[in-house]
Amino acid sequence: MGFDAYWKYARQNELPYLWAEANCYYYRGQMVAKLKGGDVYTAPQIELMADEKGDLLLPKGAKLICVDIPRMVAKNREMLELIEQTTVKKIVAVYEKYRVKLDCFHVAFSGGKDSCVLLDLVKKALPQGSFVVVFGDTGMEFPDTYALVDQVEAQCKAEEIPFYRAASHFTPAESWNLFGPPSRTLRWCCSVHKSTPQVLKLREITGKNDYRGVAFVGVRAHESVRRSHYEYLSDGTKVKGQISHNPILEWTSAEIWLYIYTHEVLFNNAYTKGSARVGCICCPMGGGKASHVEQRSYPVEVDAFHEMIAKSNGRKSMSTEGYIAQGGWNARKNGQFLTGNQERYTEYTKQGNIIIEVKNPYTSWKEWMKTLGELIGDNEDYEVIFQGKKYAFSVIERDSGYRVSFSESLARQNPVFGKTFRQVFRKTTFCVACKTCQAVCKYGCISFDHGLQIDGCHHCLECHTVVAGCYVYDSRKIPRGEGSGMKTINCFSNHAPKEEWL
Ligand code: SF4
Ligand code: SF4
Ligand code: SF4
Repeated sequence: MGFDAYWKYARQNELPYLWAEANCYYYRGQMVAKLKGGDVYTAPQIELMADEKGDLLLPKGAKLICVDIPRMVAKNREMLELIEQTTVKKIVAVYEKYRVKLDCFHVAFSGGKDSCVLLDLVKKALPQGSFVVVFGDTGMEFPDTYALVDQVEAQCKAEEIPFYRAASHFTPAESWNLFGPPSRTLRWCCSVHKSTPQVLKLREITGKNDYRGVAFVGVRAHESVRRSHYEYLSDGTKVKGQISHNPILEWTSAEIWLYIYTHEVLFNNAYTKGSARVGCICCPMGGGKASHVEQRSYPVEVDAFHEMIAKSNGRKSMSTEGYIAQGGWNARKNGQFLTGNQERYTEYTKQGNIIIEVKNPYTSWKEWMKTLGELIGDNEDYEVIFQGKKYAFSVIERDSGYRVSFSESLARQNPVFGKTFRQVFRKTTFCVACKTCQAVCKYGCISFDHGLQIDGCHHCLECHTVVAGCYVYDSRKIPRGEGSGMKTINCFSNHAPKEEWL
């Protein structure tokens, strides 16, 4: 971080000198420095802390002494034991409560320090053979995370604890190309690279599409305002059919580190390089100091993602460096400025009808229509029986696509039909088989093994709960800035100013 401009210390990574919490650095109980600013290309600035007289709390030229780990461990042993026992009891209680009712228990392992501690606690709490470990491999993890995962996997194997890796069939290069880079509001990657592969892996492990299980998760309330509202137990909020238990919810990072040093738990080397959190390379939720540390620690990997971002930038007025450093890329809300993005799906109203124009669809609309109900007709004029009622529509073939028309008033009378009917064609146009819809269907009706196949649909509409019907549509949609479509307040959810208006 550049602290060597102020203080003296040996260059080693075995023992810590300072503790870092967010951007604040503590030495022997006192906050002695703060980091300000920084981005992927610029190092953050160091601000040294002074007392009320203006004297630096840690004078320049001071020689730093390492933390005395054995003494720290000894001094806090009793306190840690208490926290540890309380947490182990919580894990046991959840196991006892659900073990006869559910199909499996798993530790959601991410490679971060919290999940390393969590795994160690679950090993202490539960009998061998009663749980498995699933590493959610996004393909975008830090190289140090993969190195740690290899070690943890070997350790689990030695202890006969099943260890699985759940990864998407897409590499990040493939998915970023298909969807466009993720952004703060277009976080398709969380589903495509995280939750979907984990659900599919657990189905494979349990042999059930509708498995019910408990995931032990290492989230902590101290990590963010959002997480401070988390409960110990939540049912199906993240993944349907899955109870999440957050046993270390109230642990502080100091307690996590104390546990790691006390029990000599393996941890991720990314922390010794200055990362405060371990996650995906080039996460759109990151930025600032974190992105600088990432770039410095893993330049080759980060540059590969930056190259993809640069290629996707169709906004010629913005330099690539600015687009990456100032966050233009991760503020993207639609596909308007994605390089080469063509409008293949358009919705508008005309003479009392909703018109959908589709070009070069990737999948068959008749297959996706099965999610709404039985289809009647086979030549331009069709009806679908949706929730016991017939709805008429037409599909007229055109060059490399078709034009769909259905009554606006029918859609108004039944907004659920109006929404899901549109979504059928969004899915049809954009589906690249990311498998999210397959993962949300607990009946196992959707398969992509031999192209899209939907069999035995229960019309539960769960696959229509995917954002906007399809993540690819959501990420690549091109907003209509004007015209007859702009009639309701919802139009503004996709509304974006055009460059020439500015
Ligand atoms: S890049 Fe960020 S938003 Fe995407 S999966 Fe990783 S952590 Fe989630
Ligand atoms: S999620 Fe529901 S509507 Fe979709 S395919 Fe499965 S059963 Fe049918
Ligand atoms: S339709 Fe579903 S499975 Fe297909 S790409 Fe979209 S979100 Fe993924």
